[in-house]
Amino acid sequence: MTGAALAPGAATLGVLGGGQLGRMFVHAAQGLGFRVAVLEPDPASPAGAAADRHLQAAYEDEAALSALADACAAVTTEFENVPAAALRRLAATRPVAPAAEAVEVCQHRAQEKRCFAEAGVPCAPHALIESAEDLTRPALAALLPGLLKTARMGYDGKGQRAVAHAAELPAAWRALGGVPCVLEQRLPLRHEVSVIVARGHDGQAVHLPLQQNLHRDGILAVTQVPAPDIDPATAERAVALALRLAERLAYVGVLCVEFFVLADGSLVANEMAPRPHNSGHYSIDACDVSQFDLQVRTLAGLPLAAPRQHSAAVMINLLGDLWFDGAAGAASVASAASARSAAPAPRTPDWGAVLALPGAHLHLYGKAEPRPGRKMGHLTLTAAEPAQARARALQAAAVLGLPPF
Ligand code: ATP
Ligand code: MG
Repeated sequence: MTGAALAPGAATLGVLGGGQLGRMFVHAAQGLGFRVAVLEPDPASPAGAAADRHLQAAYEDEAALSALADACAAVTTEFENVPAAALRRLAATRPVAPAAEAVEVCQHRAQEKRCFAEAGVPCAPHALIESAEDLTRPALAALLPGLLKTARMGYDGKGQRAVAHAAELPAAWRALGGVPCVLEQRLPLRHEVSVIVARGHDGQAVHLPLQQNLHRDGILAVTQVPAPDIDPATAERAVALALRLAERLAYVGVLCVEFFVLADGSLVANEMAPRPHNSGHYSIDACDVSQFDLQVRTLAGLPLAAPRQHSAAVMINLLGDLWFDGAAGAASVASAASARSAAPAPRTPDWGAVLALPGAHLHLYGKAEPRPGRKMGHLTLTAAEPAQARARALQAAAVLGLPPF
């Protein structure tokens, strides 16, 4: 992407996808006076509801892509599984960031891992499984116990099966639909962290501070910044690796790299997201430039001031489970349903008690129907000191009926 910067207040920006990430992009873009058009097939989407214009059509719809290009001075995406062909089609006439080529790498776990290797970034030992024959390779034994993950379209731990013994591999592969998969060695994780970088078309790059993440049932549950258990040298290394990946991809936009921290302190890259990330939501309330502000700036070719975190923060994801009685986690709702007991009674979380906590920032995404495991919103607790942010977050978790962390 090249060309002059788009003046705040004087252009329309486009987004492919209508989820919560698109919604928060819309808010940031509108803050700078940009208008935003969203292309999304769902008539009632979080981003579509916030945008100035909602083009309701499939992402590959030729007429809708033409209308988006006509309406917008530049276009971005809010989810990585947008068809790369749609990004290419738009890029023929409009600046598009990130580029289709970078998004494509992040769409395929094997390509992503190849990119890590080429950039000298360590990742988990793994093998690509494309056929039943591949499953019989003796070398796979060295990767067990492991995780079999679909090469494409996985998110929030979906499209994954734990595999302990080679004999379980064929059934696990069939359960995932017999599609191309990556078998990954299960690593002894001490911690999980992520780094968000933003890179402009002039090559200038900035980053947010390292985030420490807690997952439950494969879904991000809590993010703490500053990271309580990570030493500065490890954080610095993670940031350097993320910046290296952005450089290698000639990336324009916001990129998130997830890392595992192993027992010996070493870093292993897990995956990349070519967009803002759930673990960066705290930046809206705790940094002077958020990950969505950075997405707007990279897309519009505006300067990237280095973000400064002004408050310690803990972010808690608000999943649909919270809207049902006695459901502190997805597992309890799922098991209640499978036992064919009465459906859990719907409830409204006690937002009053949550908002009474100093430094509580509630974000709901405008989704009408809560479902177990569905991301309905997030809550960020900010404070002057990390210990205080954590104490408030634990209070909020108790109010919501979520486990402590
Ligand atoms: P996302 O929503 O982040 O895109 P995803 O569905 O793509 O998630 P992964 O990030 O690959 O899934 O894995 C989800 C979680 O499972 C990780 O955050 C980690 O807790 C665990 N996990 C994944 N791979 C491994 C591994 N090789 N060893 C140990 N734990 C793992
Ligand atoms: Mg992940």
